[in-house]
Amino acid sequence: MSTPLVEARMLSRHYAVRTGGILRRKFTPLRAVDEVNLSVASGETLGLVGESGCGKSTLGRMLVKLNPPTSGDLLFEGQDVTAMRGADLLRLRRSMQIVFQDPFGSLNPRMSVESIVMEPLLIHGAKADAAARAKVAAMLEQVGLPARAARRFPHEFSGGQRQRVGIARALILKPRFLVLDEPVSALDVSVQAGIVNLLQDLQAELGLTYLFIAHDLAVVKHISDRVAVMYLGRVVEVADKRAIYANALHPYTEALIAAAPAVRPGRVRPPRAPGDVPSALAMPAGCRFHPRCRHVMEVCRAVEPTLTQPQPGHFVACHLTGVGG
Ligand code: ATP
Ligand code: SF4
Repeated sequence: MSTPLVEARMLSRHYAVRTGGILRRKFTPLRAVDEVNLSVASGETLGLVGESGCGKSTLGRMLVKLNPPTSGDLLFEGQDVTAMRGADLLRLRRSMQIVFQDPFGSLNPRMSVESIVMEPLLIHGAKADAAARAKVAAMLEQVGLPARAARRFPHEFSGGQRQRVGIARALILKPRFLVLDEPVSALDVSVQAGIVNLLQDLQAELGLTYLFIAHDLAVVKHISDRVAVMYLGRVVEVADKRAIYANALHPYTEALIAAAPAVRPGRVRPPRAPGDVPSALAMPAGCRFHPRCRHVMEVCRAVEPTLTQPQPGHFVACHLTGVGG
């Protein structure tokens, strides 16, 4: 296999959360992302799914070096960039960008669209001259916005158009890797397909690599080549898209499929997982999913399953299919 464009090795991010009240000053570690191994091949779209709070955004932000890991390593084109700082990091940032869920919240309302999209160029040393303005105009056109949009402000646009501005801003430095953090979740269903199609067109035109984050499997089905499923800070299943949707091995993935009926129309659906995701501050012992799993066995309450590869390219962390299952 060729070198992945992006690779996480045992990547973790833990937070110290105050749980004992102001006076007692007790801090409990919250394992938002816990020893994740994941790679994204050049040119592919890896979908990253899981319920709210399971660590998707934290992982995505670490992969573009917006947040440092507590431990573990991040590799870009095979080079360890975990400790990269200063001018080297600024150079690296040109190659990795992020698009956020809320196109309104992530765009400065007092800046014109031209200034918003041009800002990364200026941060990286360009002048706000005719050449920069021409680059912005070309970028706006490429994301399907008219050139006159440059003089307007974010509040003058619909949600879908604002997301196009966010995408233009992320692409102006010609990155190779883009984390798309729930880029369509805040948009009307009628607008979502247009943004997903745009992202696919841009990927083909510009040779981009995507990590596409979503909380349900239906959203990533269309766009992903492979899918990774996260639960309480851990990746519990990774496989080719077809294998995930037709032959999910992890009970949590099955439950996510049940929660997204459009994924397999007409098929008998597995039951949804009962209850909510437990707090990451009170991680269940053994398999983190065991309090909600309909297949739970004695071993699951005591031993945390590790990621194994029962089929080529299909990884799962579950005692049902892993070693000892
Ligand atoms: P969502 O879809 O709701 O954004 P997510 O899967 O992206 O969820 P994260 O936002 O990465 O999950 O959060 C993972 C866990 O880390 C959650 O329990 C969250 O409360 C916690 N967390 C995130 N940021 C911080 C922080 N700055 N301080 C403390 N805890 C945090
Ligand atoms: Fe369910 Fe056990 Fe598999 Fe966890 S390890 S998902 S509890 S069967």
